[in-house]
Amino acid sequence: MISPVVSQHALTQQLFTLGVTPGSVLLAHCAFSRVGPLEGGPVGLIRTLQSALGPAGTLVMPSMSDDDDRVFDPTSTTCAGMGVVADTFWRLSGVMRSDSPHAFAASGPQAGRITAPHPVEFPHGLDSPVGRVFELDGQVLLLGVGHGANTTIHLAEALAGVRYRRPKHATVMAHGSVTRVAYAEIDHCCEKFNRVDGWLDAEGLQHRGRVGGAEARLARSRDIVEVVAARLRADETAFLHPYGVDAECDEARASLPA
Ligand SMILES: [Zn+2]
Repeated sequence: MISPVVSQHALTQQLFTLGVTPGSVLLAHCAFSRVGPLEGGPVGLIRTLQSALGPAGTLVMPSMSDDDDRVFDPTSTTCAGMGVVADTFWRLSGVMRSDSPHAFAASGPQAGRITAPHPVEFPHGLDSPVGRVFELDGQVLLLGVGHGANTTIHLAEALAGVRYRRPKHATVMAHGSVTRVAYAEIDHCCEKFNRVDGWLDAEGLQHRGRVGGAEARLARSRDIVEVVAARLRADETAFLHPYGVDAECDEARASLPA
């Protein structure tokens, strides 16, 4: 079966119907294979998102390094693990990218603020690009991906004060030499982030629709953080699988105080 190519005009209308607001800050997580085929390919999708936001709007995408063992270079390090749209976005002219292995990229008036330096040991805290999107009352768009890909939920975990951590490392330049930085990150397999669908839907805080061929979700960063942090304060292990399901959740559980 050959799918019809979706025009940028039709896509723009679908984004507006979903609730994308001109002039806003929009953090987008995209799976292009679910959205396309689309006029202009991944660049066409980026241009459509930018034009829907207009000149006063700011588009943000994850741009994390594919390689923990190499020094991050914002001008050359790939982020293929974030998908083809994210790995196309940072290469476009006018797009800024933070200088961190946990980079985000952004275009628009707030891009400089969002991609300003952020500490490597706290990838998704308040002083990080997702934290700045939260402070700017931005929206989070999930295009063809579920909440398992939603980095803003890690911000909610940090603000809720969850105590689980997994050992991580990054490679940075420090005082002129290549240095391995070990740190403990709030992390697990993230599959149970999909519970957030039910939590947001129950309070009417998530818009759902189709964008191209993809199932799309849109919510305010502040609503995501508020709803998730409340759940985590009631049950710190809400996102952790029981022991024996996967190594990441086992590691997170084992890090909790007895
Ligand atoms: Zn798990």
